[in-house]
Amino acid sequence: MRSGFMPQSEAQATLPDQTLAPIPTLVTGWGGGAGTPVSIVRPDGVEALRAGLELASRGAIARGMGRSYGDAAQLSGGLAIDTGLLKRMELDAHAGIVTAQAGVTIRELLESLLPMGWMVPVVPGTQHVSIGGAIASDIHGKNHGTAGTFGSHVEALSLFTADGELCELVPGSPDALFEATLGGMGLTGVIVEARIRMRPVGGPLLAVDTDRVGSLDEALAALQAPGGTHRVAWLDLLCSRPGRGIVTRAEHIATPEADARPTVKARAAVPHRWPGGALRASTVRAFNALRYRTAPRRERGHPESIGRHMFPLDALDAWPRLYGPRGLLQYQLVVPTGAEKVLEVAIERLRLANIPCYLAVLKDFGPANDAPLSFPIEGWTLALDMPRAASGLDRVLDALDELVAESGGRAYLSKDARLRPEALKAMYPRLEEWRRVRDRADPAGLWRSDLALRTSLI
Ligand SMILES: Cc1cc2nc3c(=O)[nH]c(=O)nc-3n(C[C@H](O)[C@H](O)[C@H](O)COP(=O)(O)OP(=O)(O)OC[C@H]3O[C@@H](n4cnc5c(N)ncnc54)[C@H](O)[C@@H]3O)c2cc1C
Repeated sequence: MRSGFMPQSEAQATLPDQTLAPIPTLVTGWGGGAGTPVSIVRPDGVEALRAGLELASRGAIARGMGRSYGDAAQLSGGLAIDTGLLKRMELDAHAGIVTAQAGVTIRELLESLLPMGWMVPVVPGTQHVSIGGAIASDIHGKNHGTAGTFGSHVEALSLFTADGELCELVPGSPDALFEATLGGMGLTGVIVEARIRMRPVGGPLLAVDTDRVGSLDEALAALQAPGGTHRVAWLDLLCSRPGRGIVTRAEHIATPEADARPTVKARAAVPHRWPGGALRASTVRAFNALRYRTAPRRERGHPESIGRHMFPLDALDAWPRLYGPRGLLQYQLVVPTGAEKVLEVAIERLRLANIPCYLAVLKDFGPANDAPLSFPIEGWTLALDMPRAASGLDRVLDALDELVAESGGRAYLSKDARLRPEALKAMYPRLEEWRRVRDRADPAGLWRSDLALRTSLI
């Protein structure tokens, strides 16, 4: 059985439905901060994309839901190609294969497919991510150990390339353009459509095991305990014993009759000019202490909806505004198994430099895939949210980059707003291989972003 549908567009999208006339506007990454001037076009298909190229004399980059934290989906003075009108999707309900255009979001997929028993195999910590953004960042979920990245479930994709053609890409082709596009941060072209394998599930609920842990070591051990493929640890780094936290391991359960929302509806939004100024360490410390104390010490099999468990931050719209006008910076690193000491050192150095980490999340990763710029490698990933205005932040993170790279680890480009070219080179050993493929696909360097120029990615 095949069913085609056109989901509601996201509330976040504020542009008028237009296709060609570029609109000058200021954009930022999800971390906020001062806006960057771009011209935005919003094509509704390939013909409009081709027309858009005429306007791209200073380069162009695709933009999905703008949930990357830094400057990946923008090009100062250039063209941003908003994919918000590319919304068609079709499900082969027998095979569980979705063919979706790039602007369809994870939320839209879940709302349409979960009632039919199909789950998006890899979801990030927010439902507001487009298919194009998910592929271009080769995103991971809490289940990387068993499911790999989002890209591992993509059977084919259509890429709009610099010569104005639409290329059908499949894994393992001699030109390696499919692999260069997974995690390629929009720099090989605009993904227009993808064919993605879904996972069968028995309903909208997860059974969640929870353990309260007293240290980073305990968190690492609890993440490896048996049971539950979706694993994550929240760490409290503001208390006197940094590293205590809450570890959850969740598994899908068969409850077809359960009436739980597969997604999250924001219950409130932080206003544009947040009257509380910027978050304070003392407030977050008290919130963390309450969260830790009220979590169960040990709980097994607690039923929770997929939406609530996977996307807790989506309950508060525009939450980065809590960080004040300069916004937040997220530093997400991964280190290989055996380099756990680096996690401890990173936490300690930030503490010694008085840089407050308001949110810290730890996950385990399984083996890397074949895409040269894909972020996950087998080991541990730690994501740290810090105020951009914290004094000494860049100095401390530059030093951490060296440590992470020496251990064989790397920082996640989709979260990045500050990495230096030398660090990028040290962290991504297959960078040259990726550049060769990209340069063949885009010899004149049409696809560019502020991230790419800042880090010398291209
Ligand atoms: C609260 C929160 C939690 C998150 N949790 C996770 C997580 O658990 N795991 C994880 O991996 N990531 C996570 N992320 C990051 C997010 O998944 C990625 O940044 C994702 O790429 C964002 O998708 P987007 O549609 O917003 O893309 P954008 O931010 O708009 O763009 C991101 C990149 O994708 C490119 N791109 C977008 N659309 C296309 C297209 N059609 N063709 C080619 N390139 C395109 C852009 O050029 C840019 O380089 C999280 C983000 C937030 C805000």
